[in-house]
Amino acid sequence: MALLDELEAALGDDVVLTGDQISERYRSDESHSGRALPFAVLRPATVEAVSQALAICDRHCQSVVPQGGLTGLAGGANPRGGDIALSLERFTGIEEIDAAAATMTVRAGTPLEVAQQAAEKAGFLLPIDLGSRGSCQIGGNIATNAGGIRVIRHGVTRDNVLGLEAVIADGTILSSLNKTMKNNTGYDLRQLFIGSEGTLGIITRAVLKLKPLPSSRSTALCAATSYEKVVSLLRMAKLMLANVSAFEVMWDSYFRFNAEALGLKFFDVDHPFLVIVEEDLFGNDQGGERFEAFLAAAFEEGLIDDALIAQSEKEARNFWSVREGYTMDKMLPSLVNLDISMAIGRIGDYAAECGRAMLARFPGAHVSFFGHIGDSNLHVTIATQAGTEDDAHTIDEIAYDLVRQYGGSISAEHGIGTLKRDYLGHSRSPQELAVMRHIKAALDPNGILNPGKVLPPV
Ligand SMILES: Cc1cc2nc3c(=O)[nH]c(=O)nc-3n(C[C@H](O)[C@H](O)[C@H](O)COP(=O)(O)OP(=O)(O)OC[C@H]3O[C@@H](n4cnc5c(N)ncnc54)[C@H](O)[C@@H]3O)c2cc1C
Repeated sequence: MALLDELEAALGDDVVLTGDQISERYRSDESHSGRALPFAVLRPATVEAVSQALAICDRHCQSVVPQGGLTGLAGGANPRGGDIALSLERFTGIEEIDAAAATMTVRAGTPLEVAQQAAEKAGFLLPIDLGSRGSCQIGGNIATNAGGIRVIRHGVTRDNVLGLEAVIADGTILSSLNKTMKNNTGYDLRQLFIGSEGTLGIITRAVLKLKPLPSSRSTALCAATSYEKVVSLLRMAKLMLANVSAFEVMWDSYFRFNAEALGLKFFDVDHPFLVIVEEDLFGNDQGGERFEAFLAAAFEEGLIDDALIAQSEKEARNFWSVREGYTMDKMLPSLVNLDISMAIGRIGDYAAECGRAMLARFPGAHVSFFGHIGDSNLHVTIATQAGTEDDAHTIDEIAYDLVRQYGGSISAEHGIGTLKRDYLGHSRSPQELAVMRHIKAALDPNGILNPGKVLPPV
């Protein structure tokens, strides 16, 4: 039987979209680098249907691109013309919140924000949090091992997944919805799928850790004169505050651009570095005295020149809106946002050298830096005057060559997808790449799952 007939017979017409039924939405993730529509879209609503779909595609050696919320920034969910897209958008919902184990069992297609709200309703915090929370899905978060803004306290997505269910290329369902912290029973297959960007299996369900829900937060915007002082401030925050939940650093050019775009002014003079420090508070702990003592000590030791404590949620939101910088994308349409990591102590020198190299190559370009520095993650934001694809390629070359020299990683949290695939060797050895290829061949011998993503061609 022909492939589409077989899929329709097994899954039903409503699961299989073809021709005009395929909307533009399935063309690209948020990197806007997707060029083709898939030739069919499958929208299974059960794990068994995912399994049947993959078994049929595998028999036909048909390539399949898993799609979540399509908020990815690495081109990982982009189909090629001959691919089938398998979207998890109809497999949604929270299956269980286990208060004793402090876990949530959730379907892969559930939007992150829906899962966060369900956790909160049950009196817990779901620690995974990203700016794309309204659209990204739990399956996509796990497949990309997403980072976000609470990593300094709760770790990356990998650290918050206790159990996982995934379907491999031949349709086999690997279900390990484990709820325990300790489970030393052979290879930890769950970790293989986390961060594999749809190349090893389709994630269908997960057991996520839940944490105590903070009752409030203390938030400050601090001004510092050097990167070394920022690093000392981080050390002091970890020593003096009970629960540092964010330590976000903006270089002056990033801060000024976004504050001006939003019409916000915080300090009378410009400062080279601006830092958002946040502390989670629990129960009746108001944290005020501890937070003020921390800032006073930072002033006394000369680590900061100025600081503002948010007096309301609105004021804290204002600090964060500058850091999120969403207006930047609109004002600089050709903006390239690179996501890298390296040892915290080296980031200041990297940013200085990278900035010089970019401006030497692209005089007059916008070049700025910000990052989750507490997690050793730096974002480089660059817009050249011409904004061409060639410029974007040159930017990658300059930034990633320097990352290699500094012993860093070309992807801290966005993943590899297609956009960073050709640079994977900057951060991984040939031996590591060879083992990755063996794993891929073992789990997906026909190479149907997300071909062309993550691993560079041999
Ligand atoms: C405004 C904004 C803010 C962002 N902030 C952050 C941030 O702070 N930190 C961060 O890490 N990222 C961030 N991102 C990037 C993005 O939101 C994350 O990478 C997110 O985890 C992707 O989830 P998704 O469901 O949209 O996945 P998609 O974009 O649909 O897919 C991403 C990859 O995962 C695969 N995939 C998706 N679902 C599955 C599944 N069920 N099984 C197997 N493979 C699957 C796809 O094939 C693809 O390779 C941001 C993006 C935007 C637009």
